[in-house]
Amino acid sequence: MAEPDDPGDSDESDVLTVDTAREMDATDPLSDLRDRFFVPEGELYLDGNSLGPLSVDAEAALDRVVDEWRDLAIRGWTDADPEWFSYGERLGDRLAPLVGAKPEEVVVANSTTVNIHALVGTFYDPARGEQIVVDDLDFPTDHYAIRAQLRAAGRDPDEALRVVESRDGRTIETEDVLAAIDDDVGMVFLPSVLYRSGQLFDIETITEAAHEAGALAGFDLAHSVGAVPHRLSEVGADFAVWCHYKYLNAGPGSVAGLYVNERHFGVTPALAGWWGNDKGTQFDMAMTYEPAQSAGAFQSGTVPVLSAAPLDGALDIVEDAGGVGALREKSLALTDFLIDLVDDRLPECEVGTPRDPAARGGHVAVEHPEADRVSLALKERGVVVDFRQPNVVRMAPAPAYVGFEDVYRAVEHFREILDGDEYEAFEKQSGGVT
Ligand SMILES: *Cc1c(COP(=O)(O)O)cnc(C)c1O
Repeated sequence: MAEPDDPGDSDESDVLTVDTAREMDATDPLSDLRDRFFVPEGELYLDGNSLGPLSVDAEAALDRVVDEWRDLAIRGWTDADPEWFSYGERLGDRLAPLVGAKPEEVVVANSTTVNIHALVGTFYDPARGEQIVVDDLDFPTDHYAIRAQLRAAGRDPDEALRVVESRDGRTIETEDVLAAIDDDVGMVFLPSVLYRSGQLFDIETITEAAHEAGALAGFDLAHSVGAVPHRLSEVGADFAVWCHYKYLNAGPGSVAGLYVNERHFGVTPALAGWWGNDKGTQFDMAMTYEPAQSAGAFQSGTVPVLSAAPLDGALDIVEDAGGVGALREKSLALTDFLIDLVDDRLPECEVGTPRDPAARGGHVAVEHPEADRVSLALKERGVVVDFRQPNVVRMAPAPAYVGFEDVYRAVEHFREILDGDEYEAFEKQSGGVT
């Protein structure tokens, strides 16, 4: 961000025009990707951090599995192309570069919430330190699952959960996280990106601090996978979970993902099941579980092929984009542009997302006292965003299918809604499903 008194940037509104937006679209190397997505007719879709749209690629991959089920029935486990038996491991191999892991450290399985249960349940060891560090802006399901696992381990969650508090209600200071990590801490479990403000955490620094204190470091990447590159293996993070229906566009309730660092291979998972057994002996049907020597051990039951298939297609798009690094580059340009437009056109709003690109995920939190009704008015105009308590309109210009002109037009709609008090025609929401 240029400083306001930067002489080279004295009249920023000169560049914040629809022509500039169109020029940026014209030179965008990823602009062709949008033709592969079904964005609802006539809509500006800025809600891909909640549910990404269908692509022709995801649809084709799903159709293929349905055809194979019809044509092959049980033989699909071995004769489908690709065969279903190792569908979870194979998708893990394809996902590994997105999170910076080794292929065997990643697998798809379960839902994000279940994976938190599986991994926290496996790795929480009070002997290492009774406390688990989380923060007070987390996505609630993470706390529900961790509290449940603490109870299962015979601990009082109110005692064992160490909650780092936000100073401003939007973000968490890294130094406050570090200050919370001491010898009583056995695990740190934090998001990569806060779902409301879009703050991106410093995974490397937090992991190092956890390890120095003898604790493990786990992360929830739901709001960054597919939008922000990660280096989990290099950083040495112990485990991570994420979903695929947000920036990876694999469909509602699609199978989730998980990473376990190879140093932990061989432990017995808390939610052990036959699908996590060593593949070579799974069908021996022995009564004793023999964990796969990979993250695959953390699968529980049969890989949900129908909810995994769309991800197979969706990953083609990431690969064709040139990887998540290329998507991140465009994503930052889009959120930079959006933040500049909000500053310039929507002075009555505040940007709740960090302006430092290194601390920003893929969406922008636009704060306004009437955010709930403004988000309804935006939807009425075909600008799909969502509202988060208490005052946030989340706008996610997902780089695979949103362009700069889309962002420009969305802000123009926002301006017109405020000018015309259009939000007054809507009822206040109580929180909202979307
Ligand atoms: C979206 C999201 C989830 C969702 O969990 P599911 O089990 O897929 O419903 C969990 N955690 C975070 C941080 C999220 O953003």
